[in-house]
Amino acid sequence: MKKSDRELGMGQNITRRDFIHDAGLAALSLSVPAGVVASGDPDSAGRYYPPTRTGLRGSHPGAFETAHELARDGRSFPAPQDLDEEYDLVVVGAGISGLAAAHYYQAKFGKNARILILENHDDFGGHAKRNEFHQGGQMRLALGGTHNLEHWKFSDTVNALMDDLGVDPKEMLRNQEFAYGRNGKNGPALWFDADTYGQDKLLTGCSLDEPDPERMVACLDEFPVSETARDQLKHFYTMRINLLEGKSDEEASAYLKGTAYVDFLRQHGGLGDEAIRLFDNAKHGGWGVETRSLSIAECVYEGMPGLNLLGKASVAEDRDYPVAFFPDGNASLARLQVHALIPAVAPGTNAGNIAVAKFDYTQLDRAGSPVRIRLNSTVVNATNIDSGVNSGVAVTYINNGQPLRVKARHCVMACYHSIIPHLCPDQPEAQKTAQKYQVKRPLLLTNVLIRSSDAMDKLGIAGVRCPGRMHASVFMFKGINTGGYQHKFADNGPVPLTFWGSISPPEDVVDLKDQMRASRATMLALTFEDYEREVRTVLKGLLGPAGFDMKRDILAITVNRWPHGYADDYLDLWTPEWPEGKAPHEIASKPFGNITMANADAGADAYTHVAIDEAYRAVQELA
Ligand SMILES: Cc1cc2nc3c(=O)[nH]c(=O)nc-3n(C[C@H](O)[C@H](O)[C@H](O)COP(=O)(O)OP(=O)(O)OC[C@H]3O[C@@H](n4cnc5c(N)ncnc54)[C@H](O)[C@@H]3O)c2cc1C
Repeated sequence: MKKSDRELGMGQNITRRDFIHDAGLAALSLSVPAGVVASGDPDSAGRYYPPTRTGLRGSHPGAFETAHELARDGRSFPAPQDLDEEYDLVVVGAGISGLAAAHYYQAKFGKNARILILENHDDFGGHAKRNEFHQGGQMRLALGGTHNLEHWKFSDTVNALMDDLGVDPKEMLRNQEFAYGRNGKNGPALWFDADTYGQDKLLTGCSLDEPDPERMVACLDEFPVSETARDQLKHFYTMRINLLEGKSDEEASAYLKGTAYVDFLRQHGGLGDEAIRLFDNAKHGGWGVETRSLSIAECVYEGMPGLNLLGKASVAEDRDYPVAFFPDGNASLARLQVHALIPAVAPGTNAGNIAVAKFDYTQLDRAGSPVRIRLNSTVVNATNIDSGVNSGVAVTYINNGQPLRVKARHCVMACYHSIIPHLCPDQPEAQKTAQKYQVKRPLLLTNVLIRSSDAMDKLGIAGVRCPGRMHASVFMFKGINTGGYQHKFADNGPVPLTFWGSISPPEDVVDLKDQMRASRATMLALTFEDYEREVRTVLKGLLGPAGFDMKRDILAITVNRWPHGYADDYLDLWTPEWPEGKAPHEIASKPFGNITMANADAGADAYTHVAIDEAYRAVQELA
């Protein structure tokens, strides 16, 4: 289903996250100088505590192999061992949607409902992943996946859940010094790397979405590009035409949504290949795709230049993006959800101390607890059992290589939709086809804990765009003093740098879903060392001139790979118009016997609030 102009923010100053916008310990030991130990880390002290694991995280080794064997190789597993466990509800996936489903199930069927949540990762939260560092001597938090709350979009349902959990985004905003891009503490910056541009060059105060044409021209004078590309760019940023003149609103909308942004840059902006390449990865964070896959509307109404060709200023001046943050991203929200379901994980916890609360993972899966969360458990089958009043669902999962089976009255699929056809092969063909349609967008967040922010401070940067690198941008995440955590901007001690973006697919891959698959394949094929080399290359070129010491100053590296990242939100250039009720996500998320479908995929929109709304719907559909 296409988005309406209103949803697209036509005519408004809308922004998105775009402004920015177990190999683990072994890998860490390779990358961290001797003597740097995670002193306060419970996991390295022998307690199960995955948030402090470094190395390859997100989709970590051990998390996805079983699902790939099932979905890619068509593997069948030996007959499962029946566990003597019966539940009212089994939830597949302990992301924000799965955790919300458990909450709504309790609300509908009572607090004593027996609920089992199965999750293939070694941690709960799904994309809402906490990276916790102790290598600098004090706990430092970073977001490993889902960043923040776009609270102004919340439905009444989501607001009610936030109230229940004590989350007040407005209060959180009051405790945030951090902001993205132009509104951020140190403003925007662009970094050109030697491999791509022949020299390492940092331009502070410059961005590709600078609203003032004069300032932009001054920045462009410093760009390490050819004379031709620079002249083209200057002309593009300063011209004033109106390609929409004479077009009706409908015609204008059709043009903006139906034309590739790069064609617009080329044909009307007068840019050649070299200049256009500057924008290639600019929307990795915001949309999770190459700019070449986006329409004019998807770019210019979300901050990319070009409005000056449409009768307006070159980019919107006021691009506030007032998102609410926890210091570990929405992982703190997931922790609050888990705490509400299983209070024994962290007695005395609330939204005011959630970020610093100590979680006891041994409480997650206790016999006798009404809600149990079982990690490292990949569901491979869910079958409706129809035996009259005792009808229900048999759910098979693999834990530690062993196929195990439990039974439940109901099951909510809160996992990615593209895996559901393999878990429930008896669904109608149309439903399975619709579920497979959801090819998620790969995303990458590499957190590097550095010893001090001195080099960043000296350069006067807090966030940097890197048009030539794997990660499209780098952010210094401090100044988020929420959830009981304190890390003031003025503190120049250890700080996580977040390298954020995706992995570009080869240029000759045209189809959008093929691009996603190619990007995912590369993401999984790269080793930790490949990622480490990449971030080190950037740190050396970017911070080296300010005294950053490559040996001394890198304390830990955590690579959060999300091969199945953003839900497919139907990009303009790739999406036909579907009749009401016939869009793939609507067909995909129909109930199937005692099984209903949640996850952000069910709303075809990659947001936390969507994941929650879909969980609510999925539970209401259970008889
Ligand atoms: C890097 C990144 C940044 C993001 N930033 C934001 C943001 O700032 N704001 C925002 O609103 N949204 C953001 N999102 C979107 C995010 O997807 C949603 O906000 C939300 O976290 C999705 O929750 P979910 O429960 O629907 O899915 P997930 O978080 O994907 O949870 C589904 C869970 O099911 C598990 N699973 C899958 N298959 C199986 C199986 N067979 N057996 C057991 N478990 C299984 C998965 O491993 C996963 O843990 C971001 C996403 C990513 C990847």
